[in-house]
Amino acid sequence: MPEGDSVWRAANQLHQALAGQVLLASDFRVPRFATLNLAGWTIIEVVPRGKHLLMRVAGPGDKRLTIHSHLKMEGTWQVYPPGGKWRKPGYTARCVLRTKAADAVGFSLGLLEVVATADEDSIVGFLGPDLLGPDWDPDEAERRVRAAPEIPVGVALLDQRNLAGIGNIYRCEACFLSGVHPATPVSDVADLGTMMTDAKQLLEVNLGPGRRVTILNARGMPVGRMAGRPGYWVYRREHQPCLKCGTPIRRGLLGRHNGEEERDIYFCPQCQPVPS
Ligand SMILES: [Zn+2]
Repeated sequence: MPEGDSVWRAANQLHQALAGQVLLASDFRVPRFATLNLAGWTIIEVVPRGKHLLMRVAGPGDKRLTIHSHLKMEGTWQVYPPGGKWRKPGYTARCVLRTKAADAVGFSLGLLEVVATADEDSIVGFLGPDLLGPDWDPDEAERRVRAAPEIPVGVALLDQRNLAGIGNIYRCEACFLSGVHPATPVSDVADLGTMMTDAKQLLEVNLGPGRRVTILNARGMPVGRMAGRPGYWVYRREHQPCLKCGTPIRRGLLGRHNGEEERDIYFCPQCQPVPS
């Protein structure tokens, strides 16, 4: 799953390149929209909503449509100069949009559909408050998480119906920063607010260029980006020493609540005791 910051960056790049541009051609390489042609339509804006990307376009008679995509595991949007050579195999392209200023190609998108903009709520209305959105509401996010007190906090943080934007990296790192094992039931987590604030800060630090890191100094500067330093506290650091206590980091699996797939978790068994 992408983290919310990847989707935010993709939306920002697409918005910079395409907002205000008229589509010269569109090509939706999914059966349901294969015959849809948006040539002549104007791209109004591209906005992220949690891990969903919404590209709003206006057509004849001020008709409004939204091209909705989700990157899922492998998906990516790339922007090229008009007619530029793609860096990914053509057969993985799912959506091709051509304008005078730039071409945008969505490769291996996990989901691609076009809906009336007025119906956007039917696709993203279920999402909880967006950590990177203008609507971020920590109280509402906490209310939603606490509504299921028996759920492991690591599962609750990934559930986009509670709060939108956290993927596996940030849930592992936010749990570490709070000294809470991801399998700990929500009811046993005293300070959910700090955990969500940490996740939001980490997402925001990674909206700019440079590799993704979660190790910040006291002033919030990403020291993990310095050469030779690890970028993450625990994520994918199995067997390596905890950066706080030296205990080897462990990997485990968490999931299978409400039918979610199991996902890797990384934690320090000393700093984040396994719940009894
Ligand atoms: Zn530790």
